Amino acid sequence: TQDISSLDPEIAERIDAELARQRNGLEMIASENHTALAVMQAQGSVLTNKYAEGYPGRRYYGGCEEVDVIETLAIERAKGLFGAAYANVQPHSGTQANASVFHALIRPGDTVMGLNLAHGGHLTHGMKINFSGRLYNIVPYGVDEQTLIVDMDAVEALALEHRPKLIVAGWSAYPRQLDFARFREIADKVGAYLFVDMAHFAGLVAAGLHPSPVPHAHVTTSTTHKTLAGPRGGIILSNDAEIAKKINSAVFPGQQGGPLEHVIAGKAVAFKIAATQEFAERQARTLEGAAILAERLGRGDVAAAGISVLTGGTDVHLVLVDLRASALDGQVAEDLLAKVDITVNRNAVPFDPRPPMVTSGLRIGTPALATRGFSAAAFAEVADLIAETLVAGADAEAAVLDGLRARVHALAAAHPLYPELENLSSP
Ligand code: PLP
Repeated sequence: TQDISSLDPEIAERIDAELARQRNGLEMIASENHTALAVMQAQGSVLTNKYAEGYPGRRYYGGCEEVDVIETLAIERAKGLFGAAYANVQPHSGTQANASVFHALIRPGDTVMGLNLAHGGHLTHGMKINFSGRLYNIVPYGVDEQTLIVDMDAVEALALEHRPKLIVAGWSAYPRQLDFARFREIADKVGAYLFVDMAHFAGLVAAGLHPSPVPHAHVTTSTTHKTLAGPRGGIILSNDAEIAKKINSAVFPGQQGGPLEHVIAGKAVAFKIAATQEFAERQARTLEGAAILAERLGRGDVAAAGISVLTGGTDVHLVLVDLRASALDGQVAEDLLAKVDITVNRNAVPFDPRPPMVTSGLRIGTPALATRGFSAAAFAEVADLIAETLVAGADAEAAVLDGLRARVHALAAAHPLYPELENLSSP
């Protein structure tokens, strides 16, 4: 019955240090968010003790009365939020959700088209040493070399040539919206399934601020922890009873054993929050913040340093910074921003001349700051801070970086994170 701070101070101290890190700096990794305290309470509950293989009402274990109610609520809320007829809320992660879709719909060796990883696709969309690249015949599509936008005519030509069984539409690093209706048209033309992975933009879809792929795709997956702001995990949605049946058996017993009911409870809480007006307003600020950042990083002082914004702007929650013409590479730029306590990740840009561990890009996202309550004015200051830091460059004087860091800390202090908590190891 000892709590973690007395039982295991080494871990408790690190959890508290991580809380301090998140509080003092600005988290701008596009795939991250600050989930609600209520979500963390669900995840830290006794539900973690429960085995519940199977689905609500059809379990392979006793004692599932309560988790049946919880999982059913999560399913119904997911369906309501995204207007889907069927939902599976059990995938432990986005990767497992995607693996389940492949497992349900196609066979090893079948041809699959997905966005090239080097152009913003995800590992599970066909990367060579991922399960997707090892088990399936991957034909990647990419962005146009001039516009850096997915050229749908080129996608169609590739599909007609290779006749894939499955087409994946979705991305991890792409600043524009995809044309789901056109993707479906192409899939229908060649007899392929259309699978949309909306992991990054699901929160925007939930808020009605991004077109929904659900009416167009045979299957849609998402993570629950990015713009959606829930616990780490995945979901799968569809409108077709036959496909939904195949998906259910592909998740369990195809890919997973016991579902994580504590995480599923967290998903249910997150879906409840995502249906509120407050959440929609937060997603609107997320988009506004990204647009402010893109505009600021497009100005002359930044351009003079050889730095630009990929595609010249953004329609979503992130901005991709192009460093191909800059003295900074992705690694140096990431480290430079870390010095002023702004956390971002380096990211390859399409046609990147630098190796994947270095890259010529940065991916900068606004969801976590929007959750923290950042307004347009606060995002303008963040954009100035990022621009000034990148322009100051790798040889910036310590005093300059100290000044920038002090402004970061002032912004962070003005937007308290988890103010209800003394620390997280003893809530
Ligand atoms: N799909 C997309 C588009 C992603 O960006 C990610 C995560 O980065 C995933 C799937 C995988 O999610 P997870 O990290 O939960 O496996």
